Amino acid sequence: MQIYMPTNVYSEDNCVMNHRKELAALGKKALLVTGKHSSRANGSLEDVKNALQKTGTAYAVFDKIEENPSIETVMQAREFGIEENVDFVIGIGGGSPMDAAKAIALMVANPGEDESILYEAHEFEALPVAEVPTTAGTGSEVTPYAILTIHARRTKQSISYRIYPVLALIDSRYLKTESVDTLINTTVDALAHLIESYLNTNANSYNRMYSEKGLRLFAKVKDDLLQCRRFGGEPKQTLSDEAFDMLMQMSATAGMAITHTSTSLPHGLSYAVTYEMGVPHGKAVGIFLPGFLAYYEEKEDVRAALRQMCFASVDDFTGYLDELLGKVEIADDLWKKDVEMIMENQAKLKNYPFTMDEGTLYKFRR
Ligand code: NAP
Ligand code: FE
Repeated sequence: MQIYMPTNVYSEDNCVMNHRKELAALGKKALLVTGKHSSRANGSLEDVKNALQKTGTAYAVFDKIEENPSIETVMQAREFGIEENVDFVIGIGGGSPMDAAKAIALMVANPGEDESILYEAHEFEALPVAEVPTTAGTGSEVTPYAILTIHARRTKQSISYRIYPVLALIDSRYLKTESVDTLINTTVDALAHLIESYLNTNANSYNRMYSEKGLRLFAKVKDDLLQCRRFGGEPKQTLSDEAFDMLMQMSATAGMAITHTSTSLPHGLSYAVTYEMGVPHGKAVGIFLPGFLAYYEEKEDVRAALRQMCFASVDDFTGYLDELLGKVEIADDLWKKDVEMIMENQAKLKNYPFTMDEGTLYKFRR
């Protein structure tokens, strides 16, 4: 039995400032990689700038990362990073900037190479990466994965490299500016990571400890999330500081779980739905979670996962998720293409611990 989780993780209020020396130790000049707006609104970008200034570390900001970042944006940031002579990268934001930071760190470290190396397994090294999450969903601050949009193939895919962040600085206060939709969609992403890692061919007792912990945290916050959906407004009006903390912990533990196992069918099926319909990542993954559990409900592992979440049955779980996320209609032709694509995706298919055929998979759409 084995597990590898090399990221140095801190999680507390004021985390970035508290650990500025470890951040500054990563290099001489940082490239701050972030989205267009949110890191300014929630204070995370300001915190990182202040921490670097206080340690006398230079930095340059690239703030053009879009949701579901593309290879084109990564290459644009790479040019900027090379011009600015940076030697480490800090991703600040949701999974999109955090994933982009890893791919950019690889490309800046290899200025003689073109984008083709992203999807070929070479031995190239990346610059050191630190991550500051501002959503509680992807766990990208601890995972080695970086998922990019490939427009040429009209889908998304993880790059071929495993780039482990050196440092993760987690402060749940950044979540307080989230909208209800972002909060819920990202939590469902973390939930999917926990479930897809728990029920996974690569699972062992170590990653299952992470999943069990994360599923129990989800059980504690799940009613609050439904309250947020029912009453609208800003999540910070409904959720306590402790609840925001639990969401961040759930997301990071889920990241640790998939670092060991990777994800499985719901994630694989979600990418085309996000690309073709613009459905946010967590919501797109959530569509397929009930199907993932339903066909093997009698198996002890599935029942154990339901128990950790405090759901009596898959029906109970499905009813909850339907109210939380709402319904998404996937057109027949897209669904057919999606199922065909996943039946050819051996990497995702082999992670599913039970037998799967095209007919069963076809019923995953709700
Ligand atoms: P995201 O795409 O990073 O962000 C979604 C939206 O939320 C953006 O509009 C962003 O605004 C905003 N936002 C971020 N933090 C906020 C805050 N604290 N308050 C208010 N708004 C905030 O969403 P995500 O779900 O975190 O990441 C999804 C990406 O991660 C996908 O590409 C997915 O494939 C990938 N992913 C990676 C892993 C992994 O292991 N590496 C796992 C699962 C998913 P701005 O654009 O202005 O910042
Ligand atoms: Fe995900």
